Amino acid sequence: MTPLQQLRHSTAHVLATAVLRLYPDTRLDIGPPIANGFYYDFDSTHRFSTEDFAAIEKEMSNIIAEDQPFTRREVTRQEATDLFTTLHQPFKISRLADIPEGEPISLYTNGDFTDLCAGTHLESTGKITAFKLTSVSGSYHRGDATQAMLQRIYGTAFPTQAELDQHLINLELAAQRDHRKIGQQLKLFTVLSGIGSGLPLLLPKGAIIRQQLEKLITDKLFEYGYESLYSPHIGSIDLYKTSGHYPYYAESMYEPINIEERQFLLKPMNCPMHIQAYTNEPRSYRDLPQRYAEFGTVYRMEQSGELNGLTRVRGFTQDDGHIFCTPDQLKDEFKSCLQLVQEVMAIFDLKTECRVSLRDPENKSKYAGEDHLWEPAEKCIQQVVDELQLTHTIGLGEAAFYGPKLDFMALDALGRSWQLGTIQVDFSLPERFQLEYTGTDNQPHRPVMIHRAVFGSIERFMGLLIEHFAGDFPTWIAPEQLRIIPITDAQLPAADDLLAQCKKLRIRATIDTQPDKMGAKIRRAQLDKIPLMAVLGKREVESNQVAIRSRKNGDEGPTAIPNFLERISNESRFTSHPV
Ligand SMILES: [Zn+2]
Ligand SMILES: [Zn+2]
Repeated sequence: MTPLQQLRHSTAHVLATAVLRLYPDTRLDIGPPIANGFYYDFDSTHRFSTEDFAAIEKEMSNIIAEDQPFTRREVTRQEATDLFTTLHQPFKISRLADIPEGEPISLYTNGDFTDLCAGTHLESTGKITAFKLTSVSGSYHRGDATQAMLQRIYGTAFPTQAELDQHLINLELAAQRDHRKIGQQLKLFTVLSGIGSGLPLLLPKGAIIRQQLEKLITDKLFEYGYESLYSPHIGSIDLYKTSGHYPYYAESMYEPINIEERQFLLKPMNCPMHIQAYTNEPRSYRDLPQRYAEFGTVYRMEQSGELNGLTRVRGFTQDDGHIFCTPDQLKDEFKSCLQLVQEVMAIFDLKTECRVSLRDPENKSKYAGEDHLWEPAEKCIQQVVDELQLTHTIGLGEAAFYGPKLDFMALDALGRSWQLGTIQVDFSLPERFQLEYTGTDNQPHRPVMIHRAVFGSIERFMGLLIEHFAGDFPTWIAPEQLRIIPITDAQLPAADDLLAQCKKLRIRATIDTQPDKMGAKIRRAQLDKIPLMAVLGKREVESNQVAIRSRKNGDEGPTAIPNFLERISNESRFTSHPV
């Protein structure tokens, strides 16, 4: 563990100590450090809420003031079983079974609390300086919905109070931008129990955002020489057996569907479908590269505790693409995929980070395909990032099961990292599906495949955009681009006329016809986060002008209507957004 993880994990022990003091009938599961803090899973007759946090934190402070040393001792399996039986801690006995025979079983004690733990910890509880409990949610023992339902208390700890304070401010800023909250306020999407958890419904305004994203990608696909496919949402299980997705991905797929004695899968991946398009006709080197793209909806098993708005869902749409090319074309194709991702991200003003994801050299059996298939693929990615001098990190063990990849992460306005799409080199699936093309020598050869996605999941990317822009979308993507505000009913005909002109230019506008004062109408448009307002009073109508108000600059004064329409048309083009 890093020192920070050690601090946070030790704080988790202190949390468990405090919870047991306050709620002695509580049973404990595990309390690991996580990205921004730690959690501990409890099974208790008490239903924890944030209202309990002050009392628990007070008890934690007492335990820290007591400066209890963390002491380690090794015990036999039997001793550990006896101890946790006496303590009425069945989950600890269940976790004990995970420790392989022959490996040491260690207990850590602070004060009167003893935990089954491999460590490591701070020297004593007194070394904890700044901590805070942050939230509580439901969870399952072993993340398995068929097992006991537990309560997870999250917290965090930092070496200094100043760092903790800054982190809490960031959390507050993140909460204000939460895409679930803004999504509801702006009526972008909803998740209804009537449909099911993890299955978001895009409302008309959210649908516009998705359409704009799809238009942007469709435009780029044309420029980059892709052809589109539409594949069905279910397909024969044999496709996924051949690809190796089944059984490698069996845990994240839904149960097969039986139709007339054949088994079908709700599509977990688009790749085998695109491979079928490739094999649908004989291929020569002259046909390559063949680039296929699809907004392909896929379905993945997610635990209900993991679901989150648009970012963790059970069905999502990939802006997926597959390139079939000769080994000679591989590097250029890979580079052009990289350029595509960078161009698109620049449109959103998003900084990206890259990770070269390779096999775990210790655990090659996790992956499909032999070394001679992996090595050229890993080499290609390495060469491209070197040639383009791309700043990147290396993720050992992060590769897809069939090949290495370049992963993209976007940094949002708060500096948080979001997983985007990937570019993956694959020598393995062409082998499994026996793909061929006729070479210049008139002999059959095996093509190479690139799997690539820019956004990755369109739904998750929408979640990212909502939080990145805090709902203040650029004009080209805003569901409603213009609010027309007539000052009195006398300007309604002029407002109707302006709306008609907007429609012709495909500008998304509405008229505020409420019988309110202008100030109230402007406030309403601001709450709805409309990028532009056009105010129409008696003077404006007489001179064929509008008084412009923008969200960014406030009152911009009167402009002739044709000039205003030209401006908003320009702002509506995604390519016009500053790159
Ligand atoms: Zn521990
Ligand atoms: Zn694929």
